[in-house]
Amino acid sequence: MTAATVDVLLPLGLDVPYSYLVPDGLELAPGDLVAVPLGSRLVVGCVWPRAADAPAPVDTSKLKAVRKKLDHRPLPPDLLQLIDWMADYTLAPRGMVLRMALRHEENPSPARERVGVRATGHVPERLTAARKRLIEAMSDGFVRAKTDAAREAGVSPSVVDGLVDEGALETLVLPPAPAAETPDPDHAAPTLSEPQAEAANAIIAAVQAKTFSVHLLDGVTGSGKTEVYFEAVAEAVREGRQALILLPEIALTQAFIDRFTRRFGVAPAEWHSGVSTRRRGRILRGVADGDVQVVAGARSALFLPFRDLALTIVDEEHDPAYKQEDGVTYHARDMAVVRSRFCRSPIVLTSATPSIETEVNARRGRYNRLSLPLRFGGAKVPGLSPIDLRKDMPPRGRWIAPRLQSEIAQTLEDGGQALLFLNRRGYAPLTLCRSCGHRMRCPSCSAWLVEHRFRRRLSCHHCGYQAPVPECCPACGAKDAMIPCGPGVERLQEEVQALFPEARSLVLSSDIGGIERMRAELEAVANGEVDVVVGTQLVAKGHNFPGLALVGVVDADVGLGHGDPRAAERTFQLVHQVAGRAGRGATEGRGFIQTHMPDHPVMQALVKGDRAAFYETEIAAREEAHLPPFGRMASLIVSANEGPAAEAHARRLAASAPRVEGVRVLGPAEAPLAVLRGRHRWRLLVRAPRAFDLSAYLRGWRAVAPRPTGNTKVSIDVDPMTFL
Ligand code: ADP
Ligand code: ZN
Repeated sequence: MTAATVDVLLPLGLDVPYSYLVPDGLELAPGDLVAVPLGSRLVVGCVWPRAADAPAPVDTSKLKAVRKKLDHRPLPPDLLQLIDWMADYTLAPRGMVLRMALRHEENPSPARERVGVRATGHVPERLTAARKRLIEAMSDGFVRAKTDAAREAGVSPSVVDGLVDEGALETLVLPPAPAAETPDPDHAAPTLSEPQAEAANAIIAAVQAKTFSVHLLDGVTGSGKTEVYFEAVAEAVREGRQALILLPEIALTQAFIDRFTRRFGVAPAEWHSGVSTRRRGRILRGVADGDVQVVAGARSALFLPFRDLALTIVDEEHDPAYKQEDGVTYHARDMAVVRSRFCRSPIVLTSATPSIETEVNARRGRYNRLSLPLRFGGAKVPGLSPIDLRKDMPPRGRWIAPRLQSEIAQTLEDGGQALLFLNRRGYAPLTLCRSCGHRMRCPSCSAWLVEHRFRRRLSCHHCGYQAPVPECCPACGAKDAMIPCGPGVERLQEEVQALFPEARSLVLSSDIGGIERMRAELEAVANGEVDVVVGTQLVAKGHNFPGLALVGVVDADVGLGHGDPRAAERTFQLVHQVAGRAGRGATEGRGFIQTHMPDHPVMQALVKGDRAAFYETEIAAREEAHLPPFGRMASLIVSANEGPAAEAHARRLAASAPRVEGVRVLGPAEAPLAVLRGRHRWRLLVRAPRAFDLSAYLRGWRAVAPRPTGNTKVSIDVDPMTFL
């Protein structure tokens, strides 16, 4: 008789599971987490389903045995399927995809039991001041966790222990605090308008149907999309099932958590990198047990082991933050759709400016479109007026055109707030020497260093390199000759301060540092404590600023026309979203876009508020050029410490590409970001028809391609979103 074996996938850069012996008496099934020896280490892995055509190993004499099964619920079958599917699709090693589901539980620790204390009534003879305070605090007879008792009385925990020893307090075991409290679906249900109710009912029916379906909840900002999907979340909670809400940048969305709390009486379980490991461990268990019913999280929440996922929401589905660019490259929105298919449950994508991919799917009827045509309560989406920078020029070294300046003045006079949008962090994107023209660049990237005046430093936005602003030019030695070129938000604020010395202004960008500070500043804006906000794309996201009456887009051209097939879409979405920040309160909002290209179709669509025209033009252009979603794309980046090595391998790689009708391999060409972190980069682009299995092609290619040697590396990005 042959010994029993299982396949175990390890969370490492391996694509295939390893076989292990199963010790007598141990029952193992796919999804179980086990500790297995690997070399001299013990590694936590996952028992993997054995493919029907993969026979069990015959010679088991060299196999090692599973050491133990972890006290943990097995990963659910839909999650195993998702991992397999993602690995196949993205070409990432299966183990690295598994790692995203296991990352938080290398040391799964059980929820900590808490020790509680209660007064017994016995008062010891010798009483210090601290002991008196503690007895006083506990005199109500209630049980408190030991740490709470100490904190309340303002004494150290040893004082609590002392009184326990004296018999003045008795200890009890308290149950662990729940990972998240249960939302109350009827806590504060709104009265929905008719179109809102129609959309909500459609999603509720989809939840009840327990089948896979994709819905696009399409409505301008402020039309009540959140309010609508909350009703479907409520339905999942009522059924005792689970819902996942994916948010593009949860660290900044305190406002969302607050809203959820107002609606459901308790906060959702938050899942993102800002949550402590210990807390994440507990949420993970709660999700696996089915006790945690609603999770609001960043893209990594997609890999949680939901016991019974009834509904997934992808909020602001068009947001580029859903694409993970390093490690396993994947698009969380697309993978959420895949997982919903495996769970046989509905998924809702929400946006005021759907991605072209999603819009096309809705037009084809593959996604069910639910439209909310108006702002709730009749508030208007601001119209946008163009300001032609060729005619209405700001003075030299300034970026606010005279027209925009007078509009801001008017707004401030009327007591409104203004928001100026410029998608450039820092003070100036380039620093050069006035005397010799030398430009400050990153020593390890082909990128200019950006001046950050608050911090008095130059910084590389690609690798994080920092240096002080030099007093003398590093090339010619000229003193005090380094001058900033071009605008960043910090410099724009300086201009605001010069033009409107009375106004309180604030810069909002990711450089603020710290989630807490960010939350406080957003709140200050919402409370009207700021008159002029100068912000990067950070301000485009989901915030509600009721007093905001004017939005000025300082340079709408920044995102247009540099060889990125998604540039037009991005610009449209960003400007539309930023403009949508205004006029959400009682005041009617107004928007202005400064541009050198007022006739560009994207500008025209924005100015006319003609969303349909934008989609018509952009979809037609993509179809014409066979760009996604009308064709498939993958990008291959070859990088190496030396430029010639990267180039040579990229050329060999291109030469080894299997010839298949309809598939085109473009390049190699030096990447636009030719050097990143000291690595030289060459780029290949693969294009194929829509119905073509591009992942299978890439796997076949990889199998016959020359292996990279030395420090050369090849990374593959299926459905690339950026082309740097
Ligand atoms: P969106 O998600 O589309 O931007 P929200 O759901 O945030 O829109 O709604 C915008 C504002 O209108 C929010 O303050 C929300 O509470 C309010 N609102 C929307 N629908 C209703 C409703 N049916 N009853 C009460 N308030 C509503
Ligand atoms: Zn750099």
